[in-house]
Amino acid sequence: MPDLPGLPVPELLALDRRHVWHPYGPMPGRVDPLVVESASGVRLRTSSGDLVDGMSSWWSAIHGYNHPVLNEAAREQLGRMSHVMFGGLTHEPAVRLAKLLVDMSPKGLEHVFLADSGSVSVEVAVKMCLQYWRSLGRGGKQRLLTWRGGYHGDTWQPMSVCDPEGGMHELWSGVLPRQVFVDAPPAGYEEAYAEQLRAAIERHADELAAVIVEPVVQGAGGMRFHSPAYLRVLREACDAHDVLLVFDEIATGFGRTGALFAAEHAAVTPDVMCVGKALTGGYLTMAATLCTPRVAEGISRGEVPVLAHGPTFMGNPLAASVACASIGLLLGQDWLAEVKRIEAGLREGLAPARELPGVQDVRVLGAIGVVQLDHEVDMRAATQAAVREGVWLRPFRDLVYTMPPYVTGDEDVARIARAVCAAAKEG
Ligand SMILES: *Cc1c(COP(=O)(O)O)cnc(C)c1O
Repeated sequence: MPDLPGLPVPELLALDRRHVWHPYGPMPGRVDPLVVESASGVRLRTSSGDLVDGMSSWWSAIHGYNHPVLNEAAREQLGRMSHVMFGGLTHEPAVRLAKLLVDMSPKGLEHVFLADSGSVSVEVAVKMCLQYWRSLGRGGKQRLLTWRGGYHGDTWQPMSVCDPEGGMHELWSGVLPRQVFVDAPPAGYEEAYAEQLRAAIERHADELAAVIVEPVVQGAGGMRFHSPAYLRVLREACDAHDVLLVFDEIATGFGRTGALFAAEHAAVTPDVMCVGKALTGGYLTMAATLCTPRVAEGISRGEVPVLAHGPTFMGNPLAASVACASIGLLLGQDWLAEVKRIEAGLREGLAPARELPGVQDVRVLGAIGVVQLDHEVDMRAATQAAVREGVWLRPFRDLVYTMPPYVTGDEDVARIARAVCAAAKEG
């Protein structure tokens, strides 16, 4: 057996290519990934040198890497127990986390299901909604309505509400549950579009269990922003027509858009809300599905009066402890000032991209910056251009984008913005 920890990079890459799947990757792999040796603050130590992380490891590492407070929370919990089953047992980290989530999330969400990934939390949300209507004797309400351009994860139900054209699940049309799609939301408020939402919900009300959307920012489906006013339109139409409303805040939660949860931009409480990604500060995989008493009580009135879901690693104490510490860090600082600071830095730093040939749009909201091209990005060229600027980016489709850790200093924000521009130019 090779001595893995000391494995030279070329050998490690050869084994990686031969044996290891990467996200949305072929087997064997065709592009050599960078090897990360360690990470600290906002820097990844890689086989291509130190890189400022412009991705927060896909929205999650909001406090940066190797954070002393999060490390300590993990170490302390490790000394007690890393995991115990959650059936018939409970523990302080999970209870504390649930209470924190209830206290910080939109008013009215009071019950928490701790899941082990974002996709699973969406599965649970869908199951809650379907089970709610079944309990009330309206088992015909089984479909979901969403707008195009969304992303909700890669397992079955979440895939069925991802963008039907842009997403990978195009492969699965005919196999996936058939959901109801309306057009993607325009950036600004348009009454005609609001009417389309209302009409679609009314028309399909008898078969709809829920409307599910990402509020304000659609992430991996296309990095589109829309007016929060549409969330109020959805809330009113759902209430008028007996349809539940699910917000997927897995990407937007924990301050990313300049509100703790994007639902706050519209002062709307959904019936069910999913959080994940930044929940543990990027340390461990955990997500949560929150719901209102109406949903929980509805389920409890059914012939099967329980929520029929229970993952092996539900409520994992290690992840829950780090999540509590991460939320403590977030709320213990002026996080909004940090997000606004990054927003201002990205606005300034990305402005020059507007002048580049091939750039269709530049948009910034909270600690999210997006440059949209008028063509599919050349991923290899774009990534290399960013690496030359000392930054890690992961463009996709026609998008070069960044959502830096909130602890990114002004100089590093400027560097990230330069890298996004360089990637847009070369890509
Ligand atoms: C990432 C994401 C998911 C899926 O979460 P995983 O932890 O990757 O399963 C679902 N919804 C949204 C909005 C996301 O950004």
